[in-house]
Formats: sequence, C-alpha cells, structure tokens
Amino acid sequence: IETIDAPIIIIGSGYGGAVSALRLCEAGKKVVLLEMGLNWEKAGIPFSNLLKPGKSSAWLKKKSIAPFMNLFSLTPFTGILDRLEFEHLNIWVGRGVGGGSLVNGGMAVTPKESYFKEIFPNLDAEKFFNHYFPLVREELKVNVIDEQFLKECPYYKFTRVGEAEAHKAGFKTMRVPNVYDFKYMEKEYLNEVPRSALNTEVIYGNNHGKNSLDKTYLKKAMETGNLEILDLHCVNHIKLNDDKSYTLNVQQINTSGKVVAEKIFNCKKLILSAGTMGTLQLLLHSNAVNNLPVHEKVGKNWGNNGNFMTGRNWVKPLSGGTGSKQSTIPVGGIDNWDDKEHPFFTEIAPLPMGMDVATALYLLINRVDKKGEVGYDTINQKITLNWDESNTAKMRENAKYFIRKMNNANGGTRSHLLFNNGFGADICYHPLGGCVLGEATNEFGKLKDHENLYVLDGSLIPGTIGVNPFVTITAIAEYCIENLIRQNEFA
Ligand code: FAD
Repeated sequence: IETIDAPIIIIGSGYGGAVSALRLCEAGKKVVLLEMGLNWEKAGIPFSNLLKPGKSSAWLKKKSIAPFMNLFSLTPFTGILDRLEFEHLNIWVGRGVGGGSLVNGGMAVTPKESYFKEIFPNLDAEKFFNHYFPLVREELKVNVIDEQFLKECPYYKFTRVGEAEAHKAGFKTMRVPNVYDFKYMEKEYLNEVPRSALNTEVIYGNNHGKNSLDKTYLKKAMETGNLEILDLHCVNHIKLNDDKSYTLNVQQINTSGKVVAEKIFNCKKLILSAGTMGTLQLLLHSNAVNNLPVHEKVGKNWGNNGNFMTGRNWVKPLSGGTGSKQSTIPVGGIDNWDDKEHPFFTEIAPLPMGMDVATALYLLINRVDKKGEVGYDTINQKITLNWDESNTAKMRENAKYFIRKMNNANGGTRSHLLFNNGFGADICYHPLGGCVLGEATNEFGKLKDHENLYVLDGSLIPGTIGVNPFVTITAIAEYCIENLIRQNEFA
C-alpha cells in the first residue's frame, strides 16, 4: 500500500473545495485535492446530451438516471451524475473534477437579503451583500441573457410562455442570472460555434459555453502551481491520530469503478468539501469504523432546500405550448416569496425532449418548516435520512396552489405524465445542512471537537436558503477560508 504525506488535503472539488483550493494556493500553501470522479477535461472524453445518454450520464449505473423518461441502458462508467436513494427522497449529485458545477443548470441566484438574515442571524449581511456575493458572481462568471435575444430565440419559447402565463395568473416573474456564457449561446444560435445549451446538453455535462468550476476557481488554483488534483480517488474513511493529524483510507478506481490501488494519505490539515451528503457520509462512517469524534450536532438541521417539482400538461395549449426546441439553460423564475400564505420561488424549467411534449416543468423552492436529520446505518455502512411526507406537506400545498392558479388562468392539467399525481416530492437537487455553521462547526467551519478538521460545502447551510444554492455555498466558503487563513489555521 502506497503512503503519501501532504500538509493540506481537501476532499471534493465542488464549490466549497474549489474556493478553498484557490485561496490556500494563493496564500502559498501546497494543496492536494482528492476527487472520486473523473477529470473530464484531462480524459478528453466528450459529454453526452439528454437525447443520447452515454459515458458521462451516470455514475456507475446500468441505466440512465435523469429525473424522468429513462429508457437507456448503459455500460457502467464513472459518469458525472449520481443519484442517492433514500426511503422518501432521491438526491441527485455531481461527480467529477468540478463537482455539482458539471451537472447543474448554472442558475446563479443571490438569496434575498431578508431571508439570508433570517437563516444566518450571526453573519454580517452587509459584508456579504457588498463584498462576498459580488466577489463570487465575478469569479463564477455570472451573466444575464440579453432581453432581445430572449424575445426572438425560438429555444426560449418555453420561458416566454411561462412568463406570460405566470403574469396572467397574477404572479411576479424575475430574470435569473447564469454561469452559462450567453454571448456564446447567441453564436450557437447563429451556428458560428458548436452547440451545447441549444443541443440538449446540461445534466450529463456541457461541452461548451458553461463556466463550470474547472474553468473558473479550479483553473485559477492550478495556475498557481500549488494545487495537485488526484481524480478517481475515493476517500473511504478518516482516522484521527494521537498527534491530531489525520490518516485517510483511499481507493483509486478506474473508469469502470474497479479498485486499482489502495492508498493511505496522511495530512496535518483536512478540509471536507465532499458535498452535503458526501461530507456526512465521511464523518458518520469514520465515526462508526474509526471512532472519529463527531459532535452531537453533526447530521442535524438538514433540509432539501424546499425542492418540490411539479408540472402542467395542456390538452390544447391556449398559449401554443412550449415548443420542441428548448435551451437547457433556465433564465426565468416566478417569485412568490412575499406571499405570507404561499411563499415560494419557482424556476421556469426547460424540458428539452426533442419534441413538443406539451408540458411545463417547474422546480419550486420553498421554506423548510420541518427539518430532517441524517443518521447512520451500521449494517449497510451508509447514511440514513430521517425525512418523510410530513417534511414536504407545506411544499405540496404551495405546489397545489401554484398549479391551480396557473391552470385556472391558462388552461392545463397537473402533469401526470412526469409525476405520480402531478407532484414530485421525492426529487432533491439541493441537499443542505447537517454540519451547520456555528452549530456543528465554529463560526468559520472548523468542526467542533477537532483542531485540524474543517467543513466547507453545502452542509454548512441549515437546510434552506430560498433560492438555488451554489452562489451562497461559494460565498460562505470564501468567508470561512478567508478568516481561517487570517487566523493562521494553515500556518
Ligand atoms: P458538490 O458540488 O456536490 O461537490 C462535492 C464533490 O465531492 C463531488 O465532486 C464528489 O464527487 C466529491 N466527493 C464526494 N465524496 C467523496 C469522497 N468520499 N472521496 C472523494 N471525493 C468525494 N444549484 C444552483 O445554485 N443552481 C442550479 O442551477 C443548480 N442546478 C442543479 C441541477 C442538478 C441536476 C443538480 C444535481 C444540482 C443543481 N444545483 C444547482 C445544486 C448545486 O450543484 C449544489 O448545491 C452544489 O454543487 C453543492 O456544492 P458543494 O460544494 O456542497 O459540493
């Protein structure tokens, strides 16, 4: 067994890991980043689109795992999209160098200041809204679609129809910024460059146009010369040593998922950025097999960010339907957050199936009135989720209200085509919490009961942030790592 010593190790290359890597490398620190997924850029394998799922479409599965309409059999490969199955909830996550940024829709939404203050009463909201949020929007290359292009492009009919119908039903809409380069998209439309968003590429990866983390934070971190990324390295468990350093048990796999090497890594400082579910799995599993100290708040205050999917079908679309041509990149949302009875935000989501399916898809983001909890099953050596229909009851009510209002004004029915009863309560893209900032960690993400272990990812956010979460995850990570470096934690 090969043994490797490194001063600082980061596990996971999503938003939290990428921010930590860049700021530590800029401060002159040597960093090793372990990522279980593949470095797609280095491998040179193209991503597949929605209509033809291939190698990139699923993490070691025999069948594709899109939220709906999976008819495709696959040869297992270390693809970028994974689905974690719990009793009442399926959670989709990204795998690969870039983490969730490889699979997500790129919606780059800054939370509402009032809600941010409610969720993080101890943070300096002014500093976040004047400094950290603008900083991360710049680093992530956030931009906004040109209104004229949106008005004319046939691939955005779904957005125009969605907005017109929302207005008719009395809802307020908003433009949603994105990390997808809209100037590139305009060239795609003119056939001046290869198509990506206009060629049904998104959850299995974008070959062009999208500024995922490998093109922003991670690229900058690599350019410092201080970062080493080891892909296809899956951390199995962590041990705390007597001298307060850590030993990691790691399996290197090939693209078929076969273990090709067992490795031991030793480090003085360890940052967990394995994503909400990955970080909780590492902590609770290491506690079970290695007695890794785990504070009582680990696993608590977990939520699905109020994710609730729903859709509408038209028998005879009054609006002429959403069309067969659809961009994969959402640019519109309905903002009903200020309604005291039914507060929610919803994305006007594309459904690029390559044909007119006469269906409108919505991903609602609600408040999370009842939080869940993550535990551990010693027999299966896996995390468990204490979460059922009672946790989503209010979200369902909001979805019903929304669909009823939309259908009354515009015609249509609940989408039984996509979901059982028209509601997808069991679909989660935004797992958050379980290692909440200031609860399971200190005020800057250092895990309680530890001197050299830090958590920097979505698990710091207490289960809800009211909008799509990666802008907030990135900003919180910037804030934490800046302060940790200032406090000489990595000296
Ligand atoms: P992640 O990005 O999940 O990164 C964690 C990384 O750690 C992964 O690469 C994983 O492979 C790696 N890892 C895990 N365990 C181990 C281990 N044991 N060893 C080694 N490596 C490990 N959010 C938005 O804001 N806007 C959107 O439009 C949006 N759309 C989405 C669409 C989809 C289909 C999905 C699934 C998510 C979407 N999200 C969106 C959510 C967003 O992508 C996540 O909230 C975000 O990626 C979480 O960041 P993170 O830093 O917590 O971890």
